[in-house]
Amino acid sequence: MSEPLKGLGMIIVGAGLGGCAAAMAMNAQGFSVSVFEKVNKFGRLGDSLGLGENALRLLQRWGLHDRLIEIGNKSEFMQIRRWQDGKILAQQPLMDMAGYIGHRGDYHEEFLRRVKELGVPIHMGSNVVAYDENEPSLTLSNGEVHKADIIIAADGIKSLAREIVLGYEDKPKSSGYACFRAYFKGAYLKEDPLCREFVEKECVNIWIGNDVHLVQNTLRDGDEFNWILTHKDTGDIKESWFQPGDMNEVRKIIKDCDPRIAAAVEKTKECLDWKICYRDPIPSWVSRSHKIALLGDSCHPHLPTSAQGASQATESAAVLALCLKLAGKENVALATRVYEKLRFARVRQSQLNGEDVRDRWHNALKNLDDNIEINPEDVKMRNSWLYPFDAEADTLQRWQEVSAQVSKELQDGNIQPLFSGVPQGL
Ligand SMILES: Cc1cc2nc3c(=O)[nH]c(=O)nc-3n(C[C@H](O)[C@H](O)[C@H](O)COP(=O)(O)OP(=O)(O)OC[C@H]3O[C@@H](n4cnc5c(N)ncnc54)[C@H](O)[C@@H]3O)c2cc1C
Repeated sequence: MSEPLKGLGMIIVGAGLGGCAAAMAMNAQGFSVSVFEKVNKFGRLGDSLGLGENALRLLQRWGLHDRLIEIGNKSEFMQIRRWQDGKILAQQPLMDMAGYIGHRGDYHEEFLRRVKELGVPIHMGSNVVAYDENEPSLTLSNGEVHKADIIIAADGIKSLAREIVLGYEDKPKSSGYACFRAYFKGAYLKEDPLCREFVEKECVNIWIGNDVHLVQNTLRDGDEFNWILTHKDTGDIKESWFQPGDMNEVRKIIKDCDPRIAAAVEKTKECLDWKICYRDPIPSWVSRSHKIALLGDSCHPHLPTSAQGASQATESAAVLALCLKLAGKENVALATRVYEKLRFARVRQSQLNGEDVRDRWHNALKNLDDNIEINPEDVKMRNSWLYPFDAEADTLQRWQEVSAQVSKELQDGNIQPLFSGVPQGL
């Protein structure tokens, strides 16, 4: 193994969950790193987000575990129900489905707290407006230029760095679906006997129907209530976490839904309208200079039904940090190129899982009489294979083989794309 790279200048762009995970991972491998984040201050943004054991295993090594578990929903099982009457079609352990479901803002607060505790500086209000991939360097909106040996761009779904890597603007495609979503203090729902059961104790339920599904879960021991209604939508594509939704539209969609959950949804005062956009997999996660590496949603965004966006970003952070350590100080190119090759196939499968389960839910009951029993396995989430994985152990195991292949590609000046032809999926 090469000597640790104390002297390697390292910048992370974005202090979301992916950027924070990268900061923790780099710190754990002995690197000093600084983070540049666009916003001045973070709020408690988003709603429910799953963190799987595959991520928690790594986060524990970086000193963050118990507090995350405390945030997560405590129910043992989740139920998959029939749209029109709530009949339970399948039940499965929550840990096989999404792992620990908690509020994204609460998880984020803990990630940020740990990064600060480790002494990693986060420069808030630092909007990166340009990159020079060869230096490499970045320019902030105030004109400051910062140089590094490697830049890790965890700058989210609308990543500027992705354009540098690809050389063109990668526009979002409509997935054909949108979500209405709401998150609120749910105590008042306990007063309605019709929907009380969904707030009285921690629970996760999913109602599936024709081209529609509704996910409901509680957080903070039933004090907070979240529903997410995914429905067909071919409207204009706008990716935003802040677009207000129309509750009248929601009421139209749920008018034939199980009256118990419909009662809870109807009482909701306001919701967000979130278009589920889709991006094709990209053939490279690393700039031509090999010195800017994408991480998280900037290179592998997930559909919400995958429940793995943050967990896969955490795995990517662990793998990139370990590759940089194994490659040695003079070998950033080897590290970044091995990183993308080690990660691509697994991430792609995790992304496809989200499409698969959505399609199975939306089609399971089509053209079926109410009295026909369906096979519960047909509607269960199939995420459990993702959880036992140890991203660091896998990197150590495959390093030699993949680094030999990449060394040859670098020598030949012929880096192979992550896939050839048209990728599987939407
Ligand atoms: C507001 C918001 C709400 C979300 N809510 C949910 C949810 O409820 N459930 C769920 O499963 N997932 C949600 N997600 C997505 C989820 O957080 C991600 O899939 C996952 O955590 C991986 O995130 P990431 O760090 O790669 O990207 P992000 O979480 O998007 O973080 C990217 C960070 O980079 C910063 N950034 C972007 N551009 C620049 C720039 N030019 N210069 C400097 N900084 C920059 C952003 O401000 C942001 O902090 C949400 C994301 C956002 C942004």
